[in-house]
Amino acid sequence: MTTNSIPKIVVVGGGAGGLELVTKLGRKLGKKGKAEIKLVDSTTTHIWKPLLHEVAAGTLDSHEDEIEYLAQAMCSGFNFRLGKMDGLDRENKQISVAPTVNAKGVEIIPRRTFDYDFLIISVGSVSNDFGIQGVEKNCCFLDTTSQAEVFQTKLLEAYFRAHTQDKPLDEGQLDIAIVGAGATGVELSAQLHEVAHTLTIYGLDEVKPEDVKITIIEAADRVLPGLPENLSAATQHELEKLGVDVLTNERVVQVTPKNIKTESGKVIPAAIKVWAAGIKAPDFLKDIGGLETNWINQLVVKQTLQTTLDDDIYSIGDCCACKWEGHDENVPPRAQAAHQMASLVYKSIRNRMKDKDLPEYAYHDYGSLVSLGRYSTVGNMMGSISKGSLMIEGFMARMMYLSLYKMHQVSLFGFFRVGMLTISHLFRRSVHPKIKLH
Ligand SMILES: Cc1cc2nc3c(=O)[nH]c(=O)nc-3n(C[C@H](O)[C@H](O)[C@H](O)COP(=O)(O)OP(=O)(O)OC[C@H]3O[C@@H](n4cnc5c(N)ncnc54)[C@H](O)[C@@H]3O)c2cc1C
Repeated sequence: MTTNSIPKIVVVGGGAGGLELVTKLGRKLGKKGKAEIKLVDSTTTHIWKPLLHEVAAGTLDSHEDEIEYLAQAMCSGFNFRLGKMDGLDRENKQISVAPTVNAKGVEIIPRRTFDYDFLIISVGSVSNDFGIQGVEKNCCFLDTTSQAEVFQTKLLEAYFRAHTQDKPLDEGQLDIAIVGAGATGVELSAQLHEVAHTLTIYGLDEVKPEDVKITIIEAADRVLPGLPENLSAATQHELEKLGVDVLTNERVVQVTPKNIKTESGKVIPAAIKVWAAGIKAPDFLKDIGGLETNWINQLVVKQTLQTTLDDDIYSIGDCCACKWEGHDENVPPRAQAAHQMASLVYKSIRNRMKDKDLPEYAYHDYGSLVSLGRYSTVGNMMGSISKGSLMIEGFMARMMYLSLYKMHQVSLFGFFRVGMLTISHLFRRSVHPKIKLH
């Protein structure tokens, strides 16, 4: 940065963490001409990733909740540039962005480079198939809106086919197997149970809800292995009440077009298979620019969230490996962690511009909530309100679950616009079908 120029701040990845950060920086620094703020993302719209299982099930139309980056940029004082980062030149302080091609493979935007003084990498995570045979080829993933939409189309097509066929259903023809009983797998299974009932109401009544068998397969000894045991037990009980088959202590060793095989010799037939069993940071991050990365490609950061080998490069959210004080593991890949990290980096950059000390990040776990569709929500609250961990269920838990997303929206739009959005959403819901039917 030359003495008279303003700093160039580049945020790569406009997800749960990156979009909040760039919005705050844009409002406080970009609009006042104190810094040049740029967001680079490989897609044109943002969706809050915890909603993706609803998009997959069809209970949410992604277009209802998408935020267009260009519009957000215009209102919030930053620039948006479309493209997928694939390289980093630390010496010249430049990132490189791959050419953007359209659906037909025609190049729309050529390869570009962007200069930075401060770079924040917040590109999230993708599913980790751990190299297990057949997963990539035969499973659906829920890492992006388009993947969730592909799943929803596949589900509807399977329904339409079964509804009109004149012979009995084949074994596993409508069965769905979900690998991984973390929040994604659990929430998706409950949503799919709801959808099976709703599609019958909409006239696809040749197929009975009980024709759709939903199975969750988990290698650990309980569902939601990362959460307290009482929450796992309550969730498993709720899932079993819905008729979801829960298989724990079952490690998947192979996925074929027709079934899933486990180490213990079980073969689970399923036409639709979803992989939700672990994450890794995107492959392009591995050792990028000579930075330190771990075995799942996450950028290793100090408590200031600066990467260990370069103070001008920060990383936040799922793609960073940050020590969780008092625990053996790192800060977990959660939306609340990405939100807290975005707030800290915002302060850190402002402090740097004023030559003040940098704040250090400590993860505050406020608990976790798991939505079981319209049936119930279970969760635990941590911290000062509960003096430890308190299990909550039902309406209260549902309200708190919804408030997580509202808080994300408030940080992007402010209270007034979120109020208006919520009202318009309620009106829209009253005239549209309960699930997306195309
Ligand atoms: C189905 C599902 C349900 C979940 N439910 C919960 C939940 O209930 N509670 C919870 O706390 N967490 C939940 N999570 C996890 C939560 O969504 C993530 O922890 C959170 O989104 C991480 O935020 P992030 O900013 O790190 O990344 P993301 O929100 O994933 O955003 C990453 C952004 O980077 C962009 N990007 C990626 N690669 C590049 C590149 N090379 N160049 C440019 N841009 C790039 C992407 O387009 C995206 O916009 C869920 C996740 C999923 C998938």
